[in-house]
Amino acid sequence: MGTLGSKIQQVLNEPGCSTNQAKPSTERRKGCNKLLAPGAAAGGCAFDGAKIALQPITDVAHLIHGPIGCEGHSWDARGSKSSGPLLYRTSFTTAMNEQDIVFGGEKHLYNAIKEIVKKHNPPAVFVYQTCVPAMIGDDLEAVCKAAAKKCGKPVIPINVPGFVGSKNLGNKLAGEALLDYVIGTEEPEVTTLYDINIIGDYNLSGEQWQIKPLLDELGIRILASISGDARYHQIACSHRARAAMMVCSKALINVARKMEERYGIPFFEGSFYGIGDTSDSLRQLAQLLVERGAPTELLKRTKALIEREEARAWRQIAPCKERLASKRVLLFTGGVKSWSVVAALQEAGMIITGTSVKKSTPDDKARIRELIKNDAHMYDNLKPREMYRMLKEERIDIMLSGGRTQFVALKAKVPWLDINQERHHAYAGYVGMVALISEIDKALSNPIWEQVRRPAPWEDAEAEDVLYLHIA
Ligand code: SF4
Repeated sequence: MGTLGSKIQQVLNEPGCSTNQAKPSTERRKGCNKLLAPGAAAGGCAFDGAKIALQPITDVAHLIHGPIGCEGHSWDARGSKSSGPLLYRTSFTTAMNEQDIVFGGEKHLYNAIKEIVKKHNPPAVFVYQTCVPAMIGDDLEAVCKAAAKKCGKPVIPINVPGFVGSKNLGNKLAGEALLDYVIGTEEPEVTTLYDINIIGDYNLSGEQWQIKPLLDELGIRILASISGDARYHQIACSHRARAAMMVCSKALINVARKMEERYGIPFFEGSFYGIGDTSDSLRQLAQLLVERGAPTELLKRTKALIEREEARAWRQIAPCKERLASKRVLLFTGGVKSWSVVAALQEAGMIITGTSVKKSTPDDKARIRELIKNDAHMYDNLKPREMYRMLKEERIDIMLSGGRTQFVALKAKVPWLDINQERHHAYAGYVGMVALISEIDKALSNPIWEQVRRPAPWEDAEAEDVLYLHIA
């Protein structure tokens, strides 16, 4: 725990985090970590966060050392897609029992790693330490080291017992494991002046594939995606990238900052949600690559591609835009950046009546404030009862949120669209924006809403008379 304790201290006091740096120096080391309420750890613990950040590495075996219940955070809760290997979707767990707790789970873990390597031969095994083995004192690092020596494969210890803190802390500890054990351990076959890393994107619903064709056309190569649709070798070689884009700032900022410090890879924070943000991100990527030595003609080609793609996207959005203009939206995003989605919906002429900022950084909040021009419409937390009231009384036309709040919208008889990590549609880049607008249009114009809002026959006195007549 000594090493884990100091690692947590480092991660909490993140110099790249503007929220933390704005605090007095005595407060900084506490980070933003909140004490977990009893029972609240499940579904949001540090282990969960680490698994979210690393499971999209598709060709490695992800082994959970702990009781079987921890592995409830399996692949299917998130729609991270792979263009090749599927090993990441197999749940491996030591499923610790009472005997392991009495005698220790190290031997069990060692044998599990050997068995996985024998049966699946993955390029690496990632081992996640959960609460129980951490509490009984299993030495994760020592077991991984011994197993790696025996199997001749990297066995990566990810020490993230859930009780140490939140999901966000777990994201960062997962990033630290990559920095300590993976990044910089292998060399790419070739390098180019157009190699980039994308950090903090998990290829949900295949969103990276909406961006990759644009990068391919520009000749920009994703050397490593950390970690959507990633392969172990790519991440091990990612220190050779020329520039990086950080997609979700709160999750892996420590990785982006430390890669800049250690390997001189400059990064910027961007988003591929919305037409304007996609164009900005492509521009910034091209600019960073040019600053690092790529030919300046890249800027010209990027400009031409942006003009063409923007024009195409607006052409495709035009038929829906008229129907969506002035429609009122209540926005409750989780992982998807609120400010990007706000900007994207405003591009379509919609009115944002309120948005959640619970997971937004101060920079994100400043951007949202600038876009919607009203603090009162930014919510840290909105109780279901209040959400229901708003949907009913404030003439909301549609709610965009995650699965957990869908029933509030449905109860209020308001159309709802899933935009969280469980969603089945990909909304990134220009084509993603067109898809989002089209999905909102379909949800709004679905004839079911007119039917469910109609009073039921037994609520309508006239209809009741008709009913009696029929019965008579
Ligand atoms: S790691 Fe701990 S908090 Fe997280 S699911 Fe397992 S037992 Fe629960």
